[in-house]
Amino acid sequence: MPSTKSGENRGAFEEALRIRKEREKSYRERALKLFPHVCARCGREFSGKRLRELTVHHKDHNHHNNPPDGSNWELLCLYCHENEHARDQVAEAYEAESGAEAADAGFKHNPFAGLADLLKK
Ligand SMILES: [Zn+2]
Ligand SMILES: [Zn+2]
Repeated sequence: MPSTKSGENRGAFEEALRIRKEREKSYRERALKLFPHVCARCGREFSGKRLRELTVHHKDHNHHNNPPDGSNWELLCLYCHENEHARDQVAEAYEAESGAEAADAGFKHNPFAGLADLLKK
């Protein structure tokens, strides 16, 4: 009984994570369409692959407050974004706003790690 239940929870958890990540990705894309690709603090311009270094900062620090006109968003480079947050908030900001690709790699890696264990046995 407990094993099937935890299986369901795991699926729901991953689904929730996926939805959260898609939402975060979409607000970043909307912000990148609304604003010039320039850091609001240091004025550096970002394009191509380096656009990844430009992150969406929430002016009220509430990641769930995403008005369609972008009034709660500010585009900041990683360095200025770090300065903008208190140190203990930076980790969360990185995870939510710039760590999407790293998290994807983690999700892909984990099932294979489990598979390798199974093969050893
Ligand atoms: Zn900057
Ligand atoms: Zn921020």
